Amino acid sequence: MRNHLFNALFAAAPPEAVAIRHDDRLLAYGELELETARWAQALESLNVQPGDRVAAQVEKSLESLILYLATIRIGAVYLPLNPAYTLAELAYFVGDAEPALMVCDPAHMPGVEKIAGSAEVVGLNAEGRGELYDLAQTNLVSPPVSRAPEDLAAICYTSGTTGRSKGAMLTHRALESNATTLKALWRFTEADVLIHALPTYHVHGLFVATHTAMMAGASIILQSRFDPGAVIAAMPRATALMGVPTHYTRLLAHPALSRQSAADMRLFVSGSAPLLAQTHQAWRERTGHAILERYGMTETGMNASNPYDHERRAGTVGFPLPGVELRVVREETGEPLPVGEIGGIEVRGPNVCAGYWRNPEKTAEAFRSDGFFVTGDLGRFDEDGYLTIVGRDKDLVITGGLNVYPKEVETEIDAIDGVVECAVIGLPHADFGEAVTAVVAVGSPEVTSLTEGAILERLEDRLARFKQPKRVLFVADLPRNAMGKVQKAKLRETYAGLYLAAS
Ligand code: AMP
Repeated sequence: MRNHLFNALFAAAPPEAVAIRHDDRLLAYGELELETARWAQALESLNVQPGDRVAAQVEKSLESLILYLATIRIGAVYLPLNPAYTLAELAYFVGDAEPALMVCDPAHMPGVEKIAGSAEVVGLNAEGRGELYDLAQTNLVSPPVSRAPEDLAAICYTSGTTGRSKGAMLTHRALESNATTLKALWRFTEADVLIHALPTYHVHGLFVATHTAMMAGASIILQSRFDPGAVIAAMPRATALMGVPTHYTRLLAHPALSRQSAADMRLFVSGSAPLLAQTHQAWRERTGHAILERYGMTETGMNASNPYDHERRAGTVGFPLPGVELRVVREETGEPLPVGEIGGIEVRGPNVCAGYWRNPEKTAEAFRSDGFFVTGDLGRFDEDGYLTIVGRDKDLVITGGLNVYPKEVETEIDAIDGVVECAVIGLPHADFGEAVTAVVAVGSPEVTSLTEGAILERLEDRLARFKQPKRVLFVADLPRNAMGKVQKAKLRETYAGLYLAAS
């Protein structure tokens, strides 16, 4: 009776090795395993069967992680949901996934019960207490339920910036194989201590961080939310950190970050959004460490990573992971493009999802006939084999019939003194179809000495005329989601009338 993913997660460490530290609690692997057995019993007492979906809209806590592991243990399918989702959004996920059980903050129960359909609803609060916790205070335990590699372990909904969010079906094999690969590539061993400050409703925190550490028998310092001071304070007891780019910029803004505070760390990983080359550089100067940037997505897990031993090249996401094929193609035809040319990034490997939940149409659109998954990201390989992401295909600006890759313009503007960062978007324009527009973050727009004219002048001999922004707008900060992604859709919406109103 093997449970493909669950058994792999508990195979590496002896029962007495420390699995998780959370505030002043410490749980050894053996104790963690026993907890999952109790929580499994609680889930079964609520009638959750293998294959059933368990939807969890819960704050990050030690117990929420145990809930995840217990769900896998009983062969059910975990469906993590961002605590920020509204009831209306929840109603969509519940309607689509039809969970047998919904776990939510007890304070939200009255609302959730109204949209839960036939799902049972139980409470678990931010401190990991509630009805579900109470049910798990039992001496009864359930053995792991047998699961094959192709069985579903989780359904993760994509952030759905265009159209409705889709549920990526992640199998035991996809999650296990990706973690096994990352453990070896990033050299995780039982001597590692990972600072875990990422949210656990997203693949980065739930799978990449948790699985990679557990597969190696490493221990996890679990922090319920990202707090730069707490991360820096944990560094002397830790060896590795996984974060999104915003975490690194916020750590850099903290006075306690130094070569000294990071001296015992061996690895800093960044992903989920592009890490600016200047952040990479600033981090190296301040701490002596080169951040290792990797690239992945909900549907595929991790696809590419900078190397552990060789040059970690700023602005790139490195090489395809071992066992993962990546290609850059002409999007219309799927024909592979030569080195240096920009095209759609496609991926094939055991890490890729089994398709979208109850959505054969979107699944068919997402896969080529030879099994490659169409990521929707645009990128190019360089001569040395490093992959650079230049944006999402839907962010591509087509102005007067010409393609402008926002990244190219953003890189030029980011290099200007006084610019914190920028986002280049296309906005509806009567003549050009779309007009290249730069939204520039300068910290405080009232006091910046930068002007629209000065920025445009700087770009004059750096970029072809059609790539130069028609307008430059100044803001304090760019809108970002919790994973650090700049919300370009939001910017396009905010400024939709900019040129139309003027013409
Ligand atoms: P998600 O499904 O929320 O994990 O988002 C996946 C998307 O994030 C990818 O398709 C990329 O567009 C973006 N992404 C992830 N990692 C990186 C990275 N290192 N550099 C640039 N974009 C990234």
